[in-house]
Amino acid sequence: MRKRNRQDLNRLSKVSFFSLLVLLSVVIIIVVIAVFLRNPNMYKDFEQFTLGTYVHLKISTKSNPDLISKEIFAEMDRISQKFDPYKKDSILYELNHSNDWLEVDDETFALIELALRYAKITDGAFDPTLGRLIDLWGFSHFSEKFSENDGFTVPNAKEIEEALNKSGYEKIQLDYNKKAIKTNGVWIDLGGLAKGYALERAYQIAKTADPECSGFVEAGGDIRILGPKFGKDFWIIGIKNPRGTDSVSYIYLKSGSVATSGDYERYFIKDGLRYHHLINPKTGFPANGAISATVISDDAISADAFSTAAFVLGVQNWLFTRTVFPKNNSEVFLISPDQKIYKTDGFSMYEKIY
Ligand code: ADP
Ligand code: MG
Repeated sequence: MRKRNRQDLNRLSKVSFFSLLVLLSVVIIIVVIAVFLRNPNMYKDFEQFTLGTYVHLKISTKSNPDLISKEIFAEMDRISQKFDPYKKDSILYELNHSNDWLEVDDETFALIELALRYAKITDGAFDPTLGRLIDLWGFSHFSEKFSENDGFTVPNAKEIEEALNKSGYEKIQLDYNKKAIKTNGVWIDLGGLAKGYALERAYQIAKTADPECSGFVEAGGDIRILGPKFGKDFWIIGIKNPRGTDSVSYIYLKSGSVATSGDYERYFIKDGLRYHHLINPKTGFPANGAISATVISDDAISADAFSTAAFVLGVQNWLFTRTVFPKNNSEVFLISPDQKIYKTDGFSMYEKIY
């Protein structure tokens, strides 16, 4: 009887040992599958108000997404403060108010030099020296957070002429040896490419942390793709109808960048007329040859600068835009004031999945 009992006990412990082993294996398999499947499909979203707009980061990474987002938003805050020409402690304020050569840091020199290159390529439509005009029109302190119409007045002809006389990218002098800049009375405003620069820095930060990360960063309609959706699919981006709430087209991107400049986000209405923040350097008035310009480029700085330029050039200069911009790896989608659509030859490639 006692012998039987011991045999039973032995069998029982063998059974429970095996079931424990099976259970443990199942748990290990589940954990391994979870770890392998988790990353490619999991996107985390972050949003913060910076650069005068809402910035949205969507990222999937094996690295730490919270840390990456913190670093990106801190960098955007830094750029936004450093290059705000109307804040007294910024480098641009210092440059704009010095009457002589001023030595600047590498980043400032490189960014201004780049902005001047865009000015030359676009025949001055993109002009980073319109600070006095932008300030005169009241757009220097205009942010999406405070978009009331109040407090805006249309400057008179004399004021515009004076500000125009103290504008023009050709007045800027660069000393490449001393890394010094002389503004000769103009006020530098990098608003036309600052967002693109910040998006490009965001891209660099994310890719340094994890070269395989995917997702995108979006700042007030400008988008920098980090990598294909789920590692293989296109991101679908709508081009907003500037006079409605729908989209006028869709583009498909796995990499690169897209930016839109429009007359519908930063503007005021006076006596039934719309005055927006994209200034024609030839007239000193808001440019009137387009209501929206979207540009696809390899990088966010080009997309940003070229979308501002394409807007300013408008339909009047469409032949120039459609010839020159694609040579600089930029495809354009322009909407005229009478809501006709103009596209560079290569743009359609992005409107379909081939
Ligand atoms: P948004 O910032 O609304 O997306 P843009 O990228 O086109 O629009 O940049 C608009 C900003 O560019 C203006 O707020 C101003 O600081 C600056 N800007 C205005 N007109 C010009 C111009 N002709 N060339 C370069 N920058 C400009
Ligand atoms: Mg721009």
